[in-house]
Amino acid sequence: MINSTTKLTCLLGSPVKQSLSPIIHNYLFRKYNINNIYTCFDVENIESAIKSIKTLNILGCNITIPHKVNVIDYLDFIDDNALLIGAVNTIKNEDNILKGYNTDGEGFVKSISDKGYLLKSKKVLVIGAGGASRSICVSLAKEGVHSIKIINRTISKAENLCETINSNFNTECSFSNKDILCKDLEEADIIINTTSIGMDSDLCPINTDIRVDKNLLVCDIVYKPHETTFIKWAKDNNLNVIYGIDMLINQAFESFFIWTGIKPDESDFLYIKSIYRN
Ligand code: NAP
Repeated sequence: MINSTTKLTCLLGSPVKQSLSPIIHNYLFRKYNINNIYTCFDVENIESAIKSIKTLNILGCNITIPHKVNVIDYLDFIDDNALLIGAVNTIKNEDNILKGYNTDGEGFVKSISDKGYLLKSKKVLVIGAGGASRSICVSLAKEGVHSIKIINRTISKAENLCETINSNFNTECSFSNKDILCKDLEEADIIINTTSIGMDSDLCPINTDIRVDKNLLVCDIVYKPHETTFIKWAKDNNLNVIYGIDMLINQAFESFFIWTGIKPDESDFLYIKSIYRN
């Protein structure tokens, strides 16, 4: 029950009305008996929104588009992972010190490892070089993947991300802005769509006429629709798939852990996934 000691956590961004985070976090706060609520604020001025975290003694926040990068300027501490990525999606207010983290990549890695797949020494093809891709590539490199090939429309962003990976990890990173060919898929163990292609549309980041006859794990981080054209293409080729909703839930669980020290379990994951699919 909400009372005078209820604390607040929230999402800051614009737009936020499509967010699933309130469903996930309010379920977790109730389940783990924590007197906290989660809500969303559509904010344009991130600087004043961040100041209010201290004023109102808010426990923590998630940050979404378009503030994930510029929010860094207004925090007291940024953890190494978020610094390398150059973006923050989670803030914890610890005794009026605002600490910034990025849980996207860890959430993605968990969505793969929880299904029993190993990342170490794998060859990964990543489509996209935006914010989510940066977070995912850093986490993949930390897991010791053999190589990452980044394909992105804007070559400079792919090049910049590659430089971050090559100068901080042993993983070999290369980049291109060419369309994906059969040969690229033959060389890869895992392919990940990190672009927004397929979000609320039936577009696909690769040519769906390409046929694949090998073991390839196909991951889409787009979660709306649940089954994107990319995932449908993978299933038509009898390939194993990981859905975007898995990363979405797991990155939220990582944020919840940062705020509360509690790690949600598999039953929480399955429950939230079932609500989403219904
Ligand atoms: P972002 O920073 O804006 O990056 C967007 C990426 O998509 C860039 O690589 C961009 O290429 C590419 N792109 C967009 N439209 C394109 C088009 N028409 N043709 C070719 N490439 C195109 O966004 P983000 O934060 O990384 O998010 C990307 C997607 O991931 C969104 O759909 C978001 O909802 C989803 N996401 C999911 C989760 C999850 O938990 N499942 C978490 C974060 C994000 P350019 O560099 O050439 O512009």
